[in-house]
Amino acid sequence: MLDEYIRAHNMRHTLERERLLKVMAEIKKPIFTVHDIDEQRKEQHISVPTLYNSLELFVSARILYKLERTQGVTCEQYKWALDAKNSMRVICTRCGREASFNDRALLQIVHNRKYANFVPAHFSLYVYGVCKACRRLMIQRNADSE
Ligand SMILES: [Zn+2]
Repeated sequence: MLDEYIRAHNMRHTLERERLLKVMAEIKKPIFTVHDIDEQRKEQHISVPTLYNSLELFVSARILYKLERTQGVTCEQYKWALDAKNSMRVICTRCGREASFNDRALLQIVHNRKYANFVPAHFSLYVYGVCKACRRLMIQRNADSE
């Protein structure tokens, strides 16, 4: 993805960026901050401006997603864009069991919808209810109490 983006934008390929991607791939967290890569950044001799410029580039190239959370101070967090898949799940409110499902029609509706001042990237849909096993238990219990 980076190669494609760099070619499309007539940019220079740098070793620092490649090293930074490798450093980030080593992080075993789904969401990370600049702090999480700071140690390796120093070891790899990647300068702070290069780090920030590269992160911006990775966000533009849709390699990373940037999340901005304010917890007293604004904290920038990053997440791999590839992890951000559309997800559709059913959840049982009794036992917590989860299952995923796929619905192309729903996917089309969400993507084709116009959002005011907003460009959608991906989505999560949760359908809450009662699973078959729990439903069976409920029916049994009702029958026993009669
Ligand atoms: Zn259940």
